[in-house]
Amino acid sequence: MSCHPIPADTLIDARWVIPVEPAGAVLNNHSVVLTGGIIQDVLPTDEAHTRYAPRERFGLDEHVLIPGLVNLHTHAAMTLMRGLRDDVSLMEWLNRYIWPAELQYASADMVRDGTLLACAEMMRGGVTCFNDMYFFPEAAADAVLRAGMRAALGIIVVEFQSPYASDASDYLAKGLAMRDSLRDEQLLSFCIAPHAPYSVSDDSFERIATYAAELDLPVHLHLHETLDEVHESFKFHNERPIARMHRLGLLGPNLIAVHAVHVDATEIAQLAEEGVHVAHCPSSNLKLASGIAPVAAMRRGGVNVGLGTDSAASNNRLDMFAELRLAALLAKGNTGEATALPAQAALEMATLNGARALGLEDRIGSLHPGKRGDIVAVDFGALELAPCYDPLSHVVYAAGREHVSHVWVDGELRIKDREIVGLDPAELKAKARYWREKIQG
Ligand SMILES: [Zn+2]
Repeated sequence: MSCHPIPADTLIDARWVIPVEPAGAVLNNHSVVLTGGIIQDVLPTDEAHTRYAPRERFGLDEHVLIPGLVNLHTHAAMTLMRGLRDDVSLMEWLNRYIWPAELQYASADMVRDGTLLACAEMMRGGVTCFNDMYFFPEAAADAVLRAGMRAALGIIVVEFQSPYASDASDYLAKGLAMRDSLRDEQLLSFCIAPHAPYSVSDDSFERIATYAAELDLPVHLHLHETLDEVHESFKFHNERPIARMHRLGLLGPNLIAVHAVHVDATEIAQLAEEGVHVAHCPSSNLKLASGIAPVAAMRRGGVNVGLGTDSAASNNRLDMFAELRLAALLAKGNTGEATALPAQAALEMATLNGARALGLEDRIGSLHPGKRGDIVAVDFGALELAPCYDPLSHVVYAAGREHVSHVWVDGELRIKDREIVGLDPAELKAKARYWREKIQG
C-alpha cells in the first residue's frame, strides 16, 4: 500500500464498468479515476481507494459505467419540430412540411434554442457527443458549449437558398469561417455536411471533396436513404448515388454515409474497401418507411457502422438507448440470425464506432486511460431491471435512457441524479413552447 496517494479530481466507484475496449469486458467492482478531464485510471475499487486521493467521490454501487454514447447523426435544432408532422414518407415530409417550416423560421435564435433543448435531452439519455447537420451551425455551437457537451458541427451545404445562406458557395464559405473561429474549442470538431445527393450538385460535391482532403475533415452526407433517391439518381445522373459519389471523389475514410438503407452486395463491398463509415438510424428509417439497412451484412463485410437518432422531427426521440435496442433486434429479425448483432456489437456501434467515424477514437468511445472523461452511469437498482445476470445485455435489451443517473463530459459532471447541471429545464420548456406557437401559426 502506498503511503502517498496520488491526487485525482474525481473517483467513481461502480458495481460494474463496461469499457467497450477490450470487446466484451465487464469489470466487477471497478472505479474510474478522472483528472484534468482525462480518464487517469480504471482499476478495482479496493485498489483505487488506497492508490488515489480524489477531491470528489461517487459511490454508484448498483450502477454500470459505460462510455458516453455517440449519436452519429442528428439535426439537433429540429427538436423544435418534434411531432410537427408524422406518418408521411420522406420526400412528402421534407417538401410539404419540414422545408417550408425551415425556410420560414430557421434563424440563429431558433437553432440556439432548439440545439440547447436537444443537448439537454441527449445528455439526460447518456449521449455525450453528437454529429450535427443544420443551418446556423455557429448558433448550434453556442448551445453545445453552454451545455458543456461534445459535438461535431456540420458545415452544411445545399444548393437552395435559406435564411442562413444563398447558394452552395455561400454555405461553404460561412461554414468554413465558423470552423476557423471555433477550431480551438476542445469540445467541438467539424464535418463538411452536404445534405444529400439530390440536394447538392456535382460541382459542389467536387469542391467538398477537395476541401475535405485539404483540411482532413469528415464528410457527413445522407446517402441511399430511400429507393426513390436511388431511382431519381438513375434518372438524372444515369448512376446510383454511391457510384456518383465515387466518380466525384467522395468515397473514402472521410465519408460518413448516413442511412445506407438501399445498398446491394457490390456497394457494401465498395463501402468497406473505401473505408466509408455508415451512420445507421433505424427508428427514422422505419418511421419514414424508408426501409431497413442491412447492418449485419455491412458489419460482416467490414464496414464501420455507428448509430444515430436522426432528428426529433423524424424519430421523435433523441434516444440512443432506443436505437441500441432497435438496431440489435432489427438485425436479428431482418436476417433470421439471432447472432446478427449481439449486445456487445450494438454497444460498440453506439460508442467506439461513432467515435471512429468522427476521427475521435483516440479521445472518446471507450473507457480507456488517456481518453477524455465522457462517462455515463446507468442505475440498475430499478425494479424493472432486476435481476441482472449480464450487465452488457441489460444495457442493450433491458435498460432505457430513464435509467441514466450521471453523465460526465470531458470530466465535468453534467447530469447528477438524473437532473441536468447548469441548465434550467423550465426555461428550456418555455422556449420550446414559444417556438411551437410560432411554427404552428
Ligand atoms: Zn438526417
